Amino acid sequence: MSSEVRVRFAPSPTGYLHVGGARTALFNYLFAKHHGGSFILRIEDTDRTRYQSDALDEIFTSLRWLGLTWDEGPEIEGSCGPYFQSERTSLYREKVDALVESGHAYPCFCSSQRLQKLREEQEKAKLAHVSGYDRHCRNLSQDEVTKRISQNEPHVYRLKIPDNRIVSFTDMIRGEIEYKSETLDDLVLLKSDGFPTYHLANVVDDHLMGITHVMRGDEWIASTPRHVLLYEAFGWDLPVFAHLPVILAPGGGKLSKRKGAASVLDYKRAGYLPEGLVNFLALLGWAPGNDQEKMSSQELVDLFTLERVSPKASVFDEQKLEWMNGLYMQERSVGSLLEEAHLVWKEAGEVSHEQLKDMAYLSQVIGLLKDRSKTLKELATNSFYFFNDPNSYEEKAVKKRWKGDALTVLQSLTSLFESMSNFSQQSLEDAFNDYAQKKELSLGKLIHPTRLAVSGVSFGPGLYEMLELIGQETVVRRMKNAVLWLDNFQKEKNS
Ligand code: GLU
Repeated sequence: MSSEVRVRFAPSPTGYLHVGGARTALFNYLFAKHHGGSFILRIEDTDRTRYQSDALDEIFTSLRWLGLTWDEGPEIEGSCGPYFQSERTSLYREKVDALVESGHAYPCFCSSQRLQKLREEQEKAKLAHVSGYDRHCRNLSQDEVTKRISQNEPHVYRLKIPDNRIVSFTDMIRGEIEYKSETLDDLVLLKSDGFPTYHLANVVDDHLMGITHVMRGDEWIASTPRHVLLYEAFGWDLPVFAHLPVILAPGGGKLSKRKGAASVLDYKRAGYLPEGLVNFLALLGWAPGNDQEKMSSQELVDLFTLERVSPKASVFDEQKLEWMNGLYMQERSVGSLLEEAHLVWKEAGEVSHEQLKDMAYLSQVIGLLKDRSKTLKELATNSFYFFNDPNSYEEKAVKKRWKGDALTVLQSLTSLFESMSNFSQQSLEDAFNDYAQKKELSLGKLIHPTRLAVSGVSFGPGLYEMLELIGQETVVRRMKNAVLWLDNFQKEKNS
């Protein structure tokens, strides 16, 4: 590509950044980086009725957490600022004046009551098209316009949609798209409060910010013919358009904020790693063209092309996300997980204040569990016995592992543990081997009952490492508790 690629992500701060929005940001980011171009963040905050003040922070934090840092935008200086549309209102005003001057736009004085009535009549008549504004003010005389404006009569500005036109544009993902101009009504460009509509501000800014490729969710596709006509009215070149495929919710239907699309930060709180989520999101509608699924950010940048984005909808498959995240959990060093895991443990509230301060211990727990946990949350959930004595024993495992002479085995092992002067992994392994040999028991007959006694569950990391980490005193206490419990349990069963 010869000229510099410039793309933008243009969220409206009307709520949290959900994963669908993050996919749009990611595709823009990957495209920019692939072509050595710029990724711009623009805040479309002109709809003051839907504005939410904490949404901005959440958008910034989410994008940064995912590693989608912008080259220009809020907090990052660039040559096309300001990057908040609310700070650019005079620009939009100027542009609308120019359109009025050139005969492409006109003021409209229709009251909301009139428009409401019009809508009702149209609904009743069930007009197939040309619903929407009836061009009532399109041909007012210049004198009348001047007079009404000088009397401060509230008004909006509308674009004159030309008659009998086929409005067409090329979508990089879907090919040629055509709309008949009859299906479009004279859209509002500037509202009576002086704020621009999405259409006007979006087109003006894409042009002024030198955006070469507009990549956005496919819900915006119906807006594009209007934008094409706006570009035409201004006499500006069109950017390249690419409407990204729909993401379906797991249970069917479009994934939306209302339907299952959790916020990016919810995934962070649920213990996902940013690189896992990014890799998963990249595959929602795009594929590298071979079977490769796990790709680092750099690989994604190297491989990403719009040609490989499919127009077909893709499903947000939570299980695949978990699986993908698990691959990154294995890859991560213990140290790099510590801070994030710490937050998850803290939030879960099962680890005491004191224990949360013991970074060496926490690191060792992560080391033992990270390869067998798909998320940090799963790691935290499965780690409870490293911090607390079990208060119950897995029922199925009790039946399977604590039968026959398990009680005697647990009693003997308790004494053995108590007598050990060195409670290292190696000494434990030697002690288990000796004991198994002496008693002519399989190792399984020792390992499984012990694991259940110490952790309360039937799964976990290697037993010897686990016992060493939990420590002699705690292990002995838990063994004694288990012996008491089992003894009682057997007595009750036999009575
Ligand atoms: N502000 C719009 C949104 O919230 C931007 C759409 C576009 O990218 O043109 O998604």
